[in-house]
Amino acid sequence: MKALKFHGAWDVTLSEVPDLHAIGDDDVVVDIRYCGICGTDLGIVAGSYPVAVPGVTLGHEASGVVAETGAAVTTVAPGDRVVINPTPYCGRCRMCQTQRINHCVNKHGTESGVSYDGAYAGRYRTTSAFVHRVPDHVSLRAAALTEPLSCVVAGARKLQPPSLTAYTYVIGAGPLGLLYTWVLSLKGLTPVVIEHSPARLDFARDRLPAGSAAYASLDEARAKHFGDPHAPLDVVVDTTSALLEELFPQLAHGGTYMSIGLKEKLATIDTMLLADRSLSVIGSIDSLHGSFVEAFHLITSGRLPAERLVSEVVPLEEYRRGFAALGCDIDGRQFGPADQASCKVLIAPGALDD
Ligand SMILES: [Zn+2]
Ligand SMILES: [Zn+2]
Repeated sequence: MKALKFHGAWDVTLSEVPDLHAIGDDDVVVDIRYCGICGTDLGIVAGSYPVAVPGVTLGHEASGVVAETGAAVTTVAPGDRVVINPTPYCGRCRMCQTQRINHCVNKHGTESGVSYDGAYAGRYRTTSAFVHRVPDHVSLRAAALTEPLSCVVAGARKLQPPSLTAYTYVIGAGPLGLLYTWVLSLKGLTPVVIEHSPARLDFARDRLPAGSAAYASLDEARAKHFGDPHAPLDVVVDTTSALLEELFPQLAHGGTYMSIGLKEKLATIDTMLLADRSLSVIGSIDSLHGSFVEAFHLITSGRLPAERLVSEVVPLEEYRRGFAALGCDIDGRQFGPADQASCKVLIAPGALDD
């Protein structure tokens, strides 16, 4: 089978590797149909998020069809369509036992596409607790968004807006920006989205929950949506993680700035304001207890139009094109302009039959 291997910064290859098979009694081997490209993957490839182990197969946002199961597996069978939870946790360490499975200290060696061979490949091997059967009415494309949505569900749990009427802004209309907009909307807020790329703005405008809107700038959102150029910044979810210093002094009293982009950037904030205005600065990464299943239910129940956030499906052989659509020029070893209409790009290692 083919697998997209990471060797070092800007050094990835599509390699022929032996097919995976079920070895342990609880193993489930999945023929991968779709695996989303995530900001984490871009960071790994570019060497700016140096967590991946050289030699590992990348990819962690996947769905597919069960190919083989171990002797003790009863919950799924070959031929079942499944989504993969790529974030195993030990359940025994202090982080796991204190509701922080996303920071399990034993996940090294088990994290898909980071320290464990991931799903930009023909097959992926996991265990039965980490696959969920996808109902017939849900496409495997939609199911592939479960993991990023799980990260958003986990992040949204940390947000405690002062009121359901809080003025809420999501910076960036990429996949996470749109997923945050939907999840915060389901929580009762009415977020506005800020996106300066005209094509991404167009893409987003068609795909927002009722009451939400997208604008090219924060100023425009404040003036047009809220009718006040000084509309309060009660809640800001910054998917670019670039605006903390700029927006922190502008936060309304009791306001929250949330940073979710994996971007290395030092910022200075005034701790007097932090206390005196009761401000919150929070971050979030990965999934928490139950967030994966919660995300899966949001997708399977149709409460969130996951498949509509997919802008492109690219065969595994053309992975360079998929990464380039998101601005990651692998051969040029640099970030360039993104294909501006891109949102969630899926890599397809096999047949496009779903
Ligand atoms: Zn991801
Ligand atoms: Zn643990």
